[in-house]
Amino acid sequence: MSFLLVSDIIKMAMKQLEEAGVEDVKGDAEALYCYLKHVDRARFFLSWANPADDRTCEGYFNLVARRCKREPLQLITGEQEFMGIPIKTKKGVLIPRLDSEVVALAAELLLKEQKNKTVLDLCCGSGALGIALAKRADAKVTFADISEAAISLTKENIAACGVKGAEVVWGDLFDPVAKKKYGMIISNPPYIETSVIPTLMPEVRQWEPMSALNGGKDGLDFYRRIIAGAPAHLKKGGTLVLEIGHDQAYAVTEMLENSPAFAEIKVIKDLAHNDRVVTAMYDEKAAKREAKRLAEEEKLAAKEAKLAEKEAKKAARRGEAPAEKQAAEAAPEADGNEGDSEQ
Ligand code: GLN
Repeated sequence: MSFLLVSDIIKMAMKQLEEAGVEDVKGDAEALYCYLKHVDRARFFLSWANPADDRTCEGYFNLVARRCKREPLQLITGEQEFMGIPIKTKKGVLIPRLDSEVVALAAELLLKEQKNKTVLDLCCGSGALGIALAKRADAKVTFADISEAAISLTKENIAACGVKGAEVVWGDLFDPVAKKKYGMIISNPPYIETSVIPTLMPEVRQWEPMSALNGGKDGLDFYRRIIAGAPAHLKKGGTLVLEIGHDQAYAVTEMLENSPAFAEIKVIKDLAHNDRVVTAMYDEKAAKREAKRLAEEEKLAAKEAKLAEKEAKKAARRGEAPAEKQAAEAAPEADGNEGDSEQ
């Protein structure tokens, strides 16, 4: 039997966590105790001066040791609350971030104004964004991810949260939804620049899936693909809601501005005053106008090509070499040696 009190083991854990470089040592030491003993914070404070039995000490310091290896708290406890909803976590799937709550809120506000409440959650990960919209805005959500681990965790979370009418599909971005259209597309895609990944905290760099973080050389790979693909999957009056990195608002809004399919482009900040969300409305009329213009341009180009072909054939019949061939034959003489230049 040890003679340690709960307060003693908490203090010892805080010291160990501090030496390991953990950020919030008090919060984590207490959270691990609560998790081990299945108690809430209030019960924990009441037991502050109680003795800690041997089993508790052993179990507790095992958990603390894991956290000292910088395993994220949420992977140890298996849960992260998102918009007040408990979301299960698992190694191999991105842990929901507090920053993303503002993305869910922005989407919720838009959705409440929309008639069509079908949502496509692209790169759904744990399913947190889509589940929040299903529960808070009565959305009918299709969850999509390329990671099998994400798909299976999303399914678990949907079942645990009692979300009805959800669909979960596996594949690369829009691939698994074929020609389907939605009232909203929401996504928190991987957006970290490849070269920045080694500089992230050990909790992220060593424990979280690279495939959920790596946005390519400039971090924007997924925005390019989502913005190009979204118009074909949005219904009239639909909206696009994207989580972005704190320094990506300019680049992402520029991409949307360059696409005639989007209007009313807005940037929203998170609680830390970082740019975090970009929203846009799908402008179906403008998109159709642009599609028509492109089709006409293509038609014109085809017509011109046909005409040129006809001309070439005519010239061949007259026994002339086609214009390009003539030019090619003339070329060596044109810039050729001085002696021949008169010929
Ligand atoms: N915001 C996440 C982080 O802190 C990155 C998530 C992402 O790339 N979508 O690492």
